[in-house]
This record gives sequence, structure tokens and C-alpha cells, in this order.
Amino acid sequence: MSTIFSKIINKEILANIVYEDDLVLAFKDITPQAPIHIIIIPKVTDLKTLNDINEKHITVLGHIVFVAIKIAKSEGISENGYRIVMNCNADGGQSIFHIHLHLLGGREMNWPPG
Ligand code: AMP
Repeated sequence: MSTIFSKIINKEILANIVYEDDLVLAFKDITPQAPIHIIIIPKVTDLKTLNDINEKHITVLGHIVFVAIKIAKSEGISENGYRIVMNCNADGGQSIFHIHLHLLGGREMNWPPG
């Protein structure tokens, strides 16, 4: 199924891309919830939610976390800290059904999250 994120991967719609390699794409969130808010997605399009993950996706999942940490360092938020979040389905607050990781930083986060 085509989503906004697959259109961003295919360059059918523009995004503010901050990192790209063969497996993943990272771009600035269009509605940032923190001074730094970056979305990191796998380029595979068969992962609508975290529930679709199986053993064959372990490498790409590890990769999106690794890229998030690299970006946190390059954005200068690693020392103060940051949050990475993956929402799943309705109760998790997921609105786009192509799995993605949020990297949020540049301000103090609240706990528990809303
Ligand atoms: P979620 O609610 O976890 O599914 O997160 C989806 C995120 O995608 C939200 O934070 C949106 O602001 C963000 N978003 C939606 N459309 C775009 C877009 N065209 N470019 C960048 N971020 C987007």
C-alpha cells in the first residue's frame, strides 16, 4: 500500500531529507514536536506496523536505531539526551502505516508520555 512515506522514498513528494542509504531514509518531521524531530524509516514497504516484523527485518530495525543515534550525535543532542519512539496502531498513536522511528530532542522530555 502506498503511504506518504513511500512517496517520500520514491521522491514523488519532497521532504527535508537529512540522511539516506540503501536501507533507510531520514527526514525532518513536518509537524515537529521538539526542536529536533526527525523521522527514520526503512525503505521496505511491507512493514505497516511493528506487528509485521519478523526475523528477516532484524537487520533493518537495528539499522534505523543506529542511524537515529548517528543523527542525534550529528545534531548535537546526544549529550543532553533525546528520545526515540515507535508508535504502533491506534492506542500507540500511529497515523502513518509505514513503520517509522521518531527521534526527538533539543528540549527536556516529559514522562510519562501522553
Ligand atoms: P505517527 O503518528 O507515529 O504515525 O507519526 C507520523 C509522523 O509523520 C507525524 O509526526 C507527522 O507529523 C509526520 N509526517 C506526516 N506527513 C509528513 C511529511 N510529508 N513529511 C514529514 N513528516 C510527515
